Amino acid sequence: MKIHAIGGYDEVGKNMTALEIGEDVILFDSGLFLPAIVGVEEREKIPTEKGMRALGALPDDTYLDRIGLRKKVRAILVSHAHLDHVGAIPYNAQRYDANVFGTPFTMEVLKILMKDNNQRIRNKIIPIKIGSSYTIRGKSENYKIEFVNITHSTIQSSIVAVHTKEGVVLYANDYKLDNSPTFGDKPDYKRLRELANKGVKALIVDCLYAPDDRKTPSEKIAKGLLEDVLFTTDNKNSGMIVTTFSSHIARLKTITEFGRKLGREVVFLGRSLGKYMQAAKNVGQAQFARDIRIFTYRRQVEKILKIVNKNKKRYLVVCTGHQGEPGSILDRIARGQVPLQLSKEDHIIFSSKTIPTPINEASRGELEKKLKRYQVRIFDNVHTSGHGGREDLRDLLKIIKPQHVIPSHGDLEKTTAGAKLAEELGYKLHRTVHLMRNGTFIKLAK
Ligand SMILES: [Zn+2]
Repeated sequence: MKIHAIGGYDEVGKNMTALEIGEDVILFDSGLFLPAIVGVEEREKIPTEKGMRALGALPDDTYLDRIGLRKKVRAILVSHAHLDHVGAIPYNAQRYDANVFGTPFTMEVLKILMKDNNQRIRNKIIPIKIGSSYTIRGKSENYKIEFVNITHSTIQSSIVAVHTKEGVVLYANDYKLDNSPTFGDKPDYKRLRELANKGVKALIVDCLYAPDDRKTPSEKIAKGLLEDVLFTTDNKNSGMIVTTFSSHIARLKTITEFGRKLGREVVFLGRSLGKYMQAAKNVGQAQFARDIRIFTYRRQVEKILKIVNKNKKRYLVVCTGHQGEPGSILDRIARGQVPLQLSKEDHIIFSSKTIPTPINEASRGELEKKLKRYQVRIFDNVHTSGHGGREDLRDLLKIIKPQHVIPSHGDLEKTTAGAKLAEELGYKLHRTVHLMRNGTFIKLAK
């Protein structure tokens, strides 16, 4: 078999990897390079495929044309609902005569994104429940695929397994090993061990935080941090705004529950929040938000903010804009473009971390400058990551015991850190642990 690195090996984003076996190719993920399209999501009209390619937002899957593999693609498997994994599907899936598979939430997000942008693809979108399997017909052989439950920062995230005659290939982008998740189940260690016993030929694995000497804290720690900020500060008479990742359904659940406990009405504002919440509702994962009002369109948002503004202490506003994205709700609040007037000591809680790219850091800096003019209280980084650190990676490698390790989800600095750890565990560089760049492949001997 061969593994082709298409995107996400020279940068963080536009993840895409291809597995080639004989006459068949199976694709893992097709994601966007998000720094290239900051703010685009909030626009009314989004770019075409050509436009997205010109922006550098799509993985360069023309690589598959150049080496004659495009027509061999039999399936596109999506690991989870983050845009850097699923976001390019509406643009490039059409190039393949293959169906798209993922967990029900992931597939629902994909459908809603496309509907919202008036996009259509001719590929079938097929939801596969966590823990169940499906067989893909190939020319060289048939492939059983399954989506194994893993913890991350959105729900129904999976480690994708492809069973081949040469062994199981596992795609673990993205993951963390959260043993106390606040929503959803723990990683399916039992199944991972069974697959390990069967024999894992290759593991393609998230190394975003492989350079960091840590085990990434559980989501229960983020819950604790939020509890601390929401219940032990003086906020009885303040306006309260929380911003977080729209796809982080577990975090939204925590915020909602705490808002209720504070006796405030929780309102969700912003288009991307609306999309992910709708997807969660459609697959029965949003019971916590039964009585939550969600406002997405400009006019609706302005109307509710006018009401909130009259009695700020009665509401907890949850909105988009944690990265300072221009046009997001928080950005518009800070600019005074909506009828919510910030006052001294209103609470602005970032249940997020600024993604360390120049553009994000710049927009976030701008946002803070504007917010500080109102002398609000800012609580930053009330958050834990969804990506495993070096010690998570060690545990994962020891559970899965793959024959080959392929570090991914980052440039060489990150993947090298993953490779070094693998070497500590007995893997040999270039022989059983492989550093890849976009547009290259490795061949794994039978
Ligand atoms: Zn992710």
